[in-house]
Amino acid sequence: MVPHRIAARVEVEAGERTFAAGLLLDLISALRQTADGELIALSSCRPAAIESDLDAWSRLTGHAIVARTTDHDGTRWVIRRGAAGLESPDEQPLGERLWLYVNFDCNLRCDYCCVRSSPTAPRRALGLDRVRRIARESPPLGVRAFFVTGGEPFLLPDIDELINALAAAAPVTLLTNGMLFQGSRLGALRRLPRDMVTLQISLDSPDPSLHDAHRGRGAWQRAMEGIDLARSEGFRVRLAATMTDGGDEERFRTFLDTLQVAPEDRVIRRVALRGFATSGVALSRADLVPEITVTADGVYWHPVGAEDEDLLVTSEIFPLSAAFEAVRLSLDRERAHAGRVAAVFRCA
Ligand code: SF4
Repeated sequence: MVPHRIAARVEVEAGERTFAAGLLLDLISALRQTADGELIALSSCRPAAIESDLDAWSRLTGHAIVARTTDHDGTRWVIRRGAAGLESPDEQPLGERLWLYVNFDCNLRCDYCCVRSSPTAPRRALGLDRVRRIARESPPLGVRAFFVTGGEPFLLPDIDELINALAAAAPVTLLTNGMLFQGSRLGALRRLPRDMVTLQISLDSPDPSLHDAHRGRGAWQRAMEGIDLARSEGFRVRLAATMTDGGDEERFRTFLDTLQVAPEDRVIRRVALRGFATSGVALSRADLVPEITVTADGVYWHPVGAEDEDLLVTSEIFPLSAAFEAVRLSLDRERAHAGRVAAVFRCA
């Protein structure tokens, strides 16, 4: 996967210089030209000469490295000035909520999708056997809820079997764009247990044009139809909005009031600068309280960016207890650095 080049407010070209030979002053100058949350890019043709100093500087100062790309010219780091400005962490035991990416393909191609899902993305399905094993191994590890996402999970012909296997072990929140509830997929929806499954449907705005601008023409209307149908089928439905530039949070809350969506069934979050997104909140691993996330490719730190190398914890999913331990050790290492306090970025 070739990551796109993230635009930065200031570009610093290190050339041959190291921290000891003037680079630190360039970074300080770049910080003076930027505001909190803005990005600085640093490029070097001798990355090995500065990498460890850069990492230490980032941890010490709290200016997070949010991306790192390498090509034949050298390495380019993207550094966010200051904190990410997220919620403070609440006390939730590690792994209490377990995320599963059951696929990566999608009927939509949203321009901010954090894992680059689209109709042409390879499926990378987790599959029924692995999901059954996850359902078996999770409860003893303290998992109390599953959050299932994709891609669009209802593209999978066995989505009802996957969800029923999980729902036998713990309550499931199933994230969907709500646009595919017809034919055999409606049949699959109807086979899910209402008391154990909540649907979380994406709706970005009361304004169809704003929603469709990022998610595709006609998406708003079909999502609304999906919401109505899921409710009429007796499901608890949560609505999740991804706020892009121009999104009006207050107006959206008023709209949710008219739809009689309970406060606990509303998720409003900002765009993360991951995947297809070209703007949004830039996040590093150290910024995020981990939410263990299993995909066909391995176990990740958090569902946002669950295909990005910097968030991969281990490519071995099983035994799940070992994967949980790997996340725990990684968290201990992050805390040992103590440069920053991780924060919460809610996906559900
Ligand atoms: S944001 Fe959701 S609906 Fe949009 S492309 Fe990504 S997975 Fe599909």
